[in-house]
Amino acid sequence: MANTANEKNFFADVCKNFDSAAQFTAHPEGLLTQIKACNSVYRFQFPIRRGNGFEVIDAWRVEHSQHMNPTKGGIRYSDMVNEDEVMALAALMTYKCAIVNVPFGGAKGGICINPKNYTIGELENITRRYTTELIKKNFIGPGIDVPAPDYGTGEREMSWIADTYMTMNPGQLDALGCVTGKPIALHGIRGRKEATGRGVAYAIRECVSVAEDMAKIGLKAGLGDKRVIVQGLGNVGYHSAKFLAEFGATIVGLCEFEGAIYNENGFNIDEVFAHRKLTGSILGFPGAVEFKNSMEGLEQPCDILVPAALENQLTVENIRNIKAKIIAEGANGPTTPEAEEIFTEMRGIIIPDMYCNAGGVTVSYFEWLKNLSHVAFGRMENRYAENSNRNLINTLESLTGKSIPAEHRLMIVKGASELELVNSGLEDTMIHSYHEIRETLLSKAGVKTLRTAAFVGSIDKIAVSYMNLGVWP
Ligand code: NAD
Repeated sequence: MANTANEKNFFADVCKNFDSAAQFTAHPEGLLTQIKACNSVYRFQFPIRRGNGFEVIDAWRVEHSQHMNPTKGGIRYSDMVNEDEVMALAALMTYKCAIVNVPFGGAKGGICINPKNYTIGELENITRRYTTELIKKNFIGPGIDVPAPDYGTGEREMSWIADTYMTMNPGQLDALGCVTGKPIALHGIRGRKEATGRGVAYAIRECVSVAEDMAKIGLKAGLGDKRVIVQGLGNVGYHSAKFLAEFGATIVGLCEFEGAIYNENGFNIDEVFAHRKLTGSILGFPGAVEFKNSMEGLEQPCDILVPAALENQLTVENIRNIKAKIIAEGANGPTTPEAEEIFTEMRGIIIPDMYCNAGGVTVSYFEWLKNLSHVAFGRMENRYAENSNRNLINTLESLTGKSIPAEHRLMIVKGASELELVNSGLEDTMIHSYHEIRETLLSKAGVKTLRTAAFVGSIDKIAVSYMNLGVWP
């Protein structure tokens, strides 16, 4: 049966944030209501064979807004999934895509299972059957709705989806664009797996680079002296921690299902990851202070907290105990609106999910473009750029009589690889979007948080789309 016990009005929270921002826009109420509404909610059930019997699986796909097509959003496998959650996540996708100027509407999918309780064969059956149900109702396709990984899913599930879609749509030239987050061998894109976490790290780096904003919360500019706690060592959490450490921050705390660990001298994230793989737990990592109650880990001393697990982690119950001055939302919906109000009064900054974790959909967009153009980024121009750079260097050397050292020559001459182009597009998107949001925060009287500012910008862009479509007079 679908899980209802864990429903926490997540969609209502997203709508509440929307309403707080909508008052700073000048759009008619009807248009705002249309933007906020979930356009299509498809709830379905299907049986799978298990052991000697059958099990009925609950599943959803929600397309929140078709102001741009296709719609886009991940698929979550969790026994906590429910309709309210999928609607909330779909809505967030709409606003997220608008923030980072990715031309998609928002969508989300969910299957109510704990993947750990199923064999790989069963997971494949479930994924393929789910995809077939979406095909039957026209809820998937490169120009219709394009899923991606989310909590509990990854490249493997995306391959099964792509293969099922291609099998059922023989000869469709753009079929591979029906899903993103695929492995490279199936025309995925380099950098997608780590994109969300890398984007989170860019978002934080940009936020802490603004000296005047940091001064207001008693911090210095830059990542060098920043202590970070990360909740969730999955795709988003692991990569956020990895890139933040690479950019100079110290990862002092890690929180997982089984508990939390803390060390003021910092962790090497790969060593913790290897320890967890070996022992099944982050607990027992040498030199760390341990907390059996994982939530206690969030409350330890740090400057930046990155919740990267699930929604509703920071609530009125625990927000006052948070020591961090910055909460960077790697997960979707980790902070309730009430908790955000308190944290803002505590003079903390929240880098909102709809911007902070938008790196994933940004690089998914690049993957979709690659699939539609049927050519990898850089393939046409890489060698040309290298040759013309070499000609330029040779000409400079012969004109000046000076020679450029070999290692510099290599760096200047080489053309950009797909990964370098993807990362550069991602970095540019995260930097540009941060300052766009910050500009709104500074320029709109009454707007107090980056989230409200992000919503204002997003609502404005979506409203313009509706007007351009002629849907709205
Ligand atoms: P994941 O399944 O790869 O990892 C989630 C991790 O969180 C797991 O290691 C899990 O054990 C841990 N976890 C679960 N509950 C926890 C708890 N109560 N305390 C501590 N740890 C807990 O999932 P993911 O893809 O990294 O997604 C995490 C969040 O990021 C979700 O909110 C998701 O919607 C959001 N997100 C993901 C992507 C993406 O590209 N994967 C993009 C945008 C947003």
